[in-house]
Amino acid sequence: MMILLFILSLAHAQEAPNWQVVGEKVIAAPADEAGIRQLPIDLMIEQGSKWGQPAALKAQLEKTSRILRQCGVVLGEVRIQTVVWTPWVLDQILNASPYKGPKDLILMRDIQTPVLRTLGFLYGLKSVPSTAAAYNRTSVGRLSSATVDAHPLVETFHITEHHMDYRTVPGANATYDTFAHELVHLMGDVGHIDVYGNLMSGLDGRNSKTGSLTAEQCELVKQYPLIVD
Ligand SMILES: [Zn+2]
Repeated sequence: MMILLFILSLAHAQEAPNWQVVGEKVIAAPADEAGIRQLPIDLMIEQGSKWGQPAALKAQLEKTSRILRQCGVVLGEVRIQTVVWTPWVLDQILNASPYKGPKDLILMRDIQTPVLRTLGFLYGLKSVPSTAAAYNRTSVGRLSSATVDAHPLVETFHITEHHMDYRTVPGANATYDTFAHELVHLMGDVGHIDVYGNLMSGLDGRNSKTGSLTAEQCELVKQYPLIVD
């Protein structure tokens, strides 16, 4: 009997969804503008987090679009699901084995992959450990091995709510933005650079991280296949 109960509870654990969707919303794409293309995105927003506050989210999306605009791109339609992570998945993430790849991979079990729109997971402060990460084509290749396939994570990014404030990032000034930083990792398939005063700067001095992108970075960003015309 004990064994049967154990097997039943395992079966239940494997079928339990990673989250419950408690709300859905679409922010319509902005009006077309000559010379500006749009990037549609999907967001999974943890219920009760700052990301779910309409004014805070609007300010965030506008700041990101202002930064991307220097490359001729703004955010397009934003599809939002408000979710509550199940205790099961939070426990899996907290106790994830470092040998099984990035812990975010656990979330992708419930997502149809490959991801056909850029997908952001936006967390509150009390559920999963603090994060600001993006998985681009290069990084999933690097993170994959004979035993780990990290490819389900490609085109996803993951940010905890306190990173809506640029002051959490060492060396950043008010023009810097973590949301835009993670998106540029995906769009350009780029990493950090040793340039002072750049969105992707790997340097730490005062004002090292800003909203600026180089012409070369913009060229790469513009080639992102998920931008729509
Ligand atoms: Zn980065």
